[in-house]
Amino acid sequence: MACTRTLGRLSESAYDFIDEAYLHHLLEGQVDRRQVQEVLAKSLAKQPLDPEETAVLLKADDPEVVEEILETARRLKREVYGNRIVLFAPLYVGNECVNDCQYCGFRRSNADQVRRTLTFEEIRRQVQALEDRGHKRLILVFGEHPRYSPSFIAECVRQVYATRSGRGEIRRVNINAAPLDHEGYRVVKAAGIGTYQVFQETYHRATYAEVHPPSTPKGDYFWRLDALARAMEAGCDDVGLGVLFGLYDWRFELLGLVCHARHLQKHYGCGPHTISFPRLQPAQGVTRQWPHRVSDGDFKRLVAILRLAVPYTGLILTARERPEIRREVMRFGVSQIDAGSRIELAGYTETADAQQMDREQFLLGDVRSLDEVIRELLREGDIPSFCTACYRLGRTGEHFMEFAIPGFIRDFCTPNALCTLMEYLQDYASPETRRLGQTVIQQELEKIPPSPRKQMLIDRLRRIAEDQERDVRF
Ligand code: SAM
Ligand code: SF4
Repeated sequence: MACTRTLGRLSESAYDFIDEAYLHHLLEGQVDRRQVQEVLAKSLAKQPLDPEETAVLLKADDPEVVEEILETARRLKREVYGNRIVLFAPLYVGNECVNDCQYCGFRRSNADQVRRTLTFEEIRRQVQALEDRGHKRLILVFGEHPRYSPSFIAECVRQVYATRSGRGEIRRVNINAAPLDHEGYRVVKAAGIGTYQVFQETYHRATYAEVHPPSTPKGDYFWRLDALARAMEAGCDDVGLGVLFGLYDWRFELLGLVCHARHLQKHYGCGPHTISFPRLQPAQGVTRQWPHRVSDGDFKRLVAILRLAVPYTGLILTARERPEIRREVMRFGVSQIDAGSRIELAGYTETADAQQMDREQFLLGDVRSLDEVIRELLREGDIPSFCTACYRLGRTGEHFMEFAIPGFIRDFCTPNALCTLMEYLQDYASPETRRLGQTVIQQELEKIPPSPRKQMLIDRLRRIAEDQERDVRF
């Protein structure tokens, strides 16, 4: 179905690629174990799944078959993705918003929200506070408001990159903001953004219309559905998809994500860089009951099936989730998590330990510090990573390369993870985290067979620890 729009020019590939009736049809009926196993074999061969194959996994409900799906995702994670977890922090720049999304504390009808937009000076102070904790990657988050124009967003990005505290620096700035037109994307791209995220929230039109009033800019389903295609046409090659799980049937939404990823791949030769899968959290003044809330058990299935369906895409798990859930779903192949997050405006310098609902979009489930999260990752044998090398060396599509280029993880990702971890241990870690971190680095080195490249890595780690060299990259 073609779509027309008055907000601006749509992408060259603009058509409605979500065939609702077909997706619902795919979710009907039953599957047997053999069908599931055939699809799992394709995932283990690192091939993306099409909607039909994804639906086979979504329809499996025999507990033993579901466990087989979960175990295959864990195995893929262990054998293919390795044990790196990239860390980032969100920085909320402003909570003014012209939209009225029924689930969000920032919605314009919420008169109890304290509205604020950080000044550039305040942004710099937040960034310094984040750098002082060891962060190297941020995502800037904005409501939708005429104040948050592309040039304002671009200036925020420049301010972040220009802010330094001691040895600290932010090396990659991603964005989560409203859809832009082509020119807007070009403006933010010129400021050096990493990923541009726009979540569709729900691919189901009736639900979309119900929670996003049609009189608001966000009420336009197609403008949003087309947002990341426009971004790619304008040169933003790293884009992030997402669904707000809990608005509609999670199985349908997952098929929507797969269709969206395939649409971008087909028309732009590259799928999304990341997919996010936030679950609805309590927000100020939101009293409505959500019939499609996703249980913890279904959330695990969801993440596992997503991992199996889109092998070349990074998966982002946020601090909306409680630590115990984070721990478990990370085993299914999550590649990035945020840590030490505060989502109140100016939350990294101004707020106490308790969350303040009148200054934030929703409640967080995990408010542990960055150091605590890193310590736990290390205890579990993971490698916390602050790597930003691919983006800064102009290597886009890094998740694709991890798979497509034999040895890429061994030669680039793991060494960069270990070097950035070593920087963190030297500059920011608590004594206990430092001790654990040194052990993990040693264990990882022991796993690498002798080679000139291994020697190079050992030398770089030594230069970071002894010569205080920073930002060494493979
Ligand atoms: N305002 C922009 C927009 O809506 O696209 C971007 C930023 S919005 C602050 C970031 C995301 O937070 C939204 O896309 C939505 O998925 C998520 N979000 C909003 N309310 C939420 C809630 N109550 N629980 C969990 N996530 C929520
Ligand atoms: Fe505004 Fe985004 Fe919240 Fe909707 S989700 S009310 S657009 S900040």
